[in-house]
Amino acid sequence: MKTVGYAAYSSDAKMVPYHFERRALRANDVSIEILFSGVCHSDLHTVNGDWGPQPYPLVPGHEIIGRVLEVGPDVTQYKPGDHVGVGCMVDSCQECDQCHHHEEQYCRHGMTPTYGAPDRIDGETTQGGYSKHIVVREEFVLRVPEALDLSKAAPILCAGITTFSPLRTWNVGKGSRVGVIGLGGLGHMAVKLAVAMGADVTVLSRSSKKEEEAKAIGAQGILASTDEDAMAKAASSLDLIIDTVPVKHDVTVYAPLLDVNGTLVIVGQVGPMNEFISAPLIMGRRRVAGSLIGGIKETQEVLDFCAEHNIHPICETIRPDQINDAFAVMAKGDIAHRYVMDMSALSLDN
Ligand SMILES: [Zn+2]
Ligand SMILES: [Zn+2]
Repeated sequence: MKTVGYAAYSSDAKMVPYHFERRALRANDVSIEILFSGVCHSDLHTVNGDWGPQPYPLVPGHEIIGRVLEVGPDVTQYKPGDHVGVGCMVDSCQECDQCHHHEEQYCRHGMTPTYGAPDRIDGETTQGGYSKHIVVREEFVLRVPEALDLSKAAPILCAGITTFSPLRTWNVGKGSRVGVIGLGGLGHMAVKLAVAMGADVTVLSRSSKKEEEAKAIGAQGILASTDEDAMAKAASSLDLIIDTVPVKHDVTVYAPLLDVNGTLVIVGQVGPMNEFISAPLIMGRRRVAGSLIGGIKETQEVLDFCAEHNIHPICETIRPDQINDAFAVMAKGDIAHRYVMDMSALSLDN
């Protein structure tokens, strides 16, 4: 199938229109017309080559909302016209212990990312959501509940699941005390999801200048890491901290905020971190952990949870030809919303 997208041809090049082919439908494949495509911080890192060399030309994008065009003969869950989503993975071995307990992101043989990786069958490089169409095996296609606004649902597929999974893993519920470091694309979803689970949520930031934004989405307030008195008063006051900061930073200042047995979970890929001091961890059996997106079953759960609780990411809709401007803004610093491309502005004539 002929399609068109926006691709990077090298790590220092701008995104440009790129015509390419999507594979012919396999028996268990779903072909999807992409309606909306979220713009994730990791798209920018990947095309810039920050995480290693890439197979250019590369079409990024792993927050995909679309409509089913056609299905292979073995597909049972979807039919043409259904609204569906695709997130950060498009395949895994489906046979190992991790796949069997619905954590394909930790597949023993490596999951297949939505873009920039060899397809498990034909070895072709996977290409992501900054495009008009995508073909994905049924097991990695998500159902988009009717209550969700299609134009705002895309970021749930990365920012949403990345924060939902640790909230679930660490059993956040009514009365849980949750801190969220950073109030960007991931941070604001972490706040909304934790609040909907019944937690008391505090945003942790270098300053309190985003206080109003934090309160507007349900947080109790901001604790500024530079305010030594407030930090001392808040010692041992949190059960879980979700650390969403996408750049190198010091976690030691936040560790004393955890209660005994508390956990700080890092979800932003930042590379080497500063040295941290062991004493606050030892003195309260506190932990520093990591978490990568979530499995397909859990991704369906976060879509359903958002529909049930009327949670939508804060989105700014742009045209695909504005992607380079969006990348430039994102490269300057954290923004408290997600850019989402309306793919209806992209046609095969582009
Ligand atoms: Zn992402
Ligand atoms: Zn596996």
